[in-house]
Amino acid sequence: MHEDKSVWQRLAGYGVLALVAGMMLLGWRAAATTTAQAEEPPTAPNAAVETTGGSPSDAALPDQAVADAPLAPVIEDIAVAPAAVPQTFVGRRPEHNFQTYTVERGDTPNGIADKFGIQATTLLGGNPLLSQESSLLQTGVTLVILPIDGVLHDVQPGDTLESIAEQYGVSVETIVGYAPNNLEFPYRLFPETQIMVPGAVRDVFVWTPPSLESVRGSSREGSGVAPLIVGTGTFIYPVNSRNFSQYFWYGHPGVDIALPEGTGVVASDTGTVTFAGWNIYGYGNLIVINHGNGYETFYGHLSSIGVVPGQIVYQGNFIGSTGNTGNSSGPHIHFEVRINAAQDNPCFYVGGC
Ligand SMILES: [Zn+2]
Repeated sequence: MHEDKSVWQRLAGYGVLALVAGMMLLGWRAAATTTAQAEEPPTAPNAAVETTGGSPSDAALPDQAVADAPLAPVIEDIAVAPAAVPQTFVGRRPEHNFQTYTVERGDTPNGIADKFGIQATTLLGGNPLLSQESSLLQTGVTLVILPIDGVLHDVQPGDTLESIAEQYGVSVETIVGYAPNNLEFPYRLFPETQIMVPGAVRDVFVWTPPSLESVRGSSREGSGVAPLIVGTGTFIYPVNSRNFSQYFWYGHPGVDIALPEGTGVVASDTGTVTFAGWNIYGYGNLIVINHGNGYETFYGHLSSIGVVPGQIVYQGNFIGSTGNTGNSSGPHIHFEVRINAAQDNPCFYVGGC
């Protein structure tokens, strides 16, 4: 009996241990579930309901749950985004219809402009080469005649309506308002097309020769600085001819005198040669003399050059020969006078034209 009681007591003891162990196990599971719920990402509240098991294999459930759920606002936004219009806006290219005119002997810029009821500067607006080259309004050259005063602008990559308006000092509305430009909001521009800029005037490119100081400083005679030679202040014709083929105007900064190639050219006044060589801006073989008193004279399209930079020449000295080099459509000399770097009409200085 003592043994039986002892066995019963021993079994009871095991039962208590088992009960305690069972309660501990339940308590652990409850705690584990609570922890799993607490760690659910706050951004997926719907999915949390189905993941209370907390096992690693259940981790894939949230995505599936979202995919099956009604579209969230973020996804709706993405669906709406492609509806933005600019990426699909095609626009229309400009449709211009210009007259042309072939320059005849004796034509002047004002005369041509008057024929078409436009300003002479608009000849530059429709013909950009006129402003970049020193001598193009010559017999046989075909000009684009714009229907109204303004500039025909070549659209460049990166151009905007605002940048073009600013470049020419006109308003965007002025450009948009010219119907053949075919500009409709949102105003797409096409590179390699041309748009009309009403009322604008094209800037004329002006090439600047080396300064007198730079040329005198580069001289290697004696002290290294050439003496300053000052001109007489009077000017003579560089060639023995008055056969003018083009006069001075906004689009042509000098006078052209036609005469056979190889004719001698002389210095219009005393001074220092500041440039003698090939000029890439249309002058061809060019000589520039700085007269030391604010004046410079230019001799363009030469066939030969007889002086070098830094050389002193006196009025009437031979400096080269006439030619047809650079932007020139026939043998002639381009003679130009600048006062304090500003182009002036040579006729004011040599007279007789
Ligand atoms: Zn010229």
